[in-house]
Amino acid sequence: MSRFIFITGGVVSSLGKGVTAASIGRLLISRGLQIRMLKLDPYLNVDPGTMSPFQHGEVFVTDDGGETDLDLGHYERYTGMPTSKKSNRTAGQVYWEVLSKERRGEYLGRTIQMIPHITDEIKGAIRALAEPKVDIVLVEIGGTVGDIEGLTFLEAIRQIGLEEGRDNAMYLHLTYVPFIRAAGEIKTKPSQQSVAKLREIGIVPDALICRTEVALPEDARRKLSLFCNVPFSAVLEERDVAHSIYEIPLMLHEQGLDELILVHFRLARPPARLNDWRAMVETVTHPQRRVRIGVVGKYSELQDAYKSLYEAIIHGGIAHGAGVDIVRIAAEDIEKNGAESSLAEVDGLLVPGGFGQRGIEGKVEAIRWAREHGLPFLGICLGLQCAVIEFARHACGLEGAHTTEIEKAAPHPVVCLMEEQEKVTDLGGTMRLGAFPCALAEGSLAARLYGARRISERHRHRYEVNNRYRERLEAGGLRISGTSPDGRLVEMVELPGHPFFIATQAHPEFKSQPMAPHPLFRGLIGAALARTGG
Ligand code: GLN
Repeated sequence: MSRFIFITGGVVSSLGKGVTAASIGRLLISRGLQIRMLKLDPYLNVDPGTMSPFQHGEVFVTDDGGETDLDLGHYERYTGMPTSKKSNRTAGQVYWEVLSKERRGEYLGRTIQMIPHITDEIKGAIRALAEPKVDIVLVEIGGTVGDIEGLTFLEAIRQIGLEEGRDNAMYLHLTYVPFIRAAGEIKTKPSQQSVAKLREIGIVPDALICRTEVALPEDARRKLSLFCNVPFSAVLEERDVAHSIYEIPLMLHEQGLDELILVHFRLARPPARLNDWRAMVETVTHPQRRVRIGVVGKYSELQDAYKSLYEAIIHGGIAHGAGVDIVRIAAEDIEKNGAESSLAEVDGLLVPGGFGQRGIEGKVEAIRWAREHGLPFLGICLGLQCAVIEFARHACGLEGAHTTEIEKAAPHPVVCLMEEQEKVTDLGGTMRLGAFPCALAEGSLAARLYGARRISERHRHRYEVNNRYRERLEAGGLRISGTSPDGRLVEMVELPGHPFFIATQAHPEFKSQPMAPHPLFRGLIGAALARTGG
């Protein structure tokens, strides 16, 4: 029988609810429990696939091709378990499903209402994860308590507490306890009000996790306990971490959160096994050496747009006991000032995925500089496409080589849509999404890094390297080191003779984990360290 933990957020957004949920997931696994994780998003978009990175940050792609919330990335990185489309449900999907059932006549003419129809659909999504061997289903509710669109979700999780019994459901509230500098004081009132709002709906939290900048003094904890009706021992502090978000599971463990959960559910389990995690955190917080990696992207200002990518770079450092300073470079700055001024400062270059025209020439210019100056380079998705464009233009003499995403009538369309895609008019339908197998050429850098000849990576793109140019690119010296198993799609390219120059059509960053750094990122950081002589 599964139990349920619900995590809500109070006062403000951006408290790191996803990281907290993922950290709790890690703790439960460290106690030998089988878990599943679910993110409920109360917004009305059907999925984040078509949302702007300014609004939503990264779109995380699952093996089964789900375009999901970036919190699923945290879940995978902290728990080491793959998520799927079932791990993320939006209000848009819930309403869509209910309205489709209504149109099909499945409600037999009854009046369709928020309660019970919408709430039943939400409960169905939660219970779908409660498979027989699962001990605990961990459910994070997006948004902040008090949001109108969150109400049906809170109502649904309240009902689950009633139906499963309070011993089988636990409510954790992540709240913000601000430090008012001018008064030199910690303030508990916003949290009191947030909990009051929850209680109005009928949810009484079993524990408070307080996000704070400073240590939570005992009197503030007492106050929170009294006014929020939560036992003193269940008022925990989650202070801003000094070095790494991977410290958070340890911080919560030291305050007894995993034990608190086991006691609530009357479960007995052996002590937490966190030694490997602790060793990893030690590497991150006390690196032996440092390298600088330049990331040339379209959104240099947006931390969340490349969430998994930045994490994967850090993981690459962990593999070498090294800390990585990520230097975010706006591709448009390279267009204005040239590559030299930005890239002379870094030990490696990463060009990530992206869509659209903005900054593309800057990316091409950066890759050219890396190719000509022996700077270690890893290209991802659009990064591979830019590498192919660059190589075609400057090493194969194919002037005006481009991707048809940007230049429909390019004289040399080295990156284009596949014929069968040309016929599809619905944009969503043409996207290559989810896990695809790839065969690696014997003796290639790719095969050496992966230590395998057959791999699987996740994709999210429309355009592909144009097969009509494969021979010319190879004649120029570019090695096509990875293809789809049937050989029809170019998946990876590399440059023999260069210290480290490799690009992939996939998004390897989605599969990198702190306890299992991805081979391509490990390779990039290794080559960058070698360049520094470290
Ligand atoms: N815009 C490119 C395509 O659709 C690359 C996409 C990406 O980098 N994710 O093929």
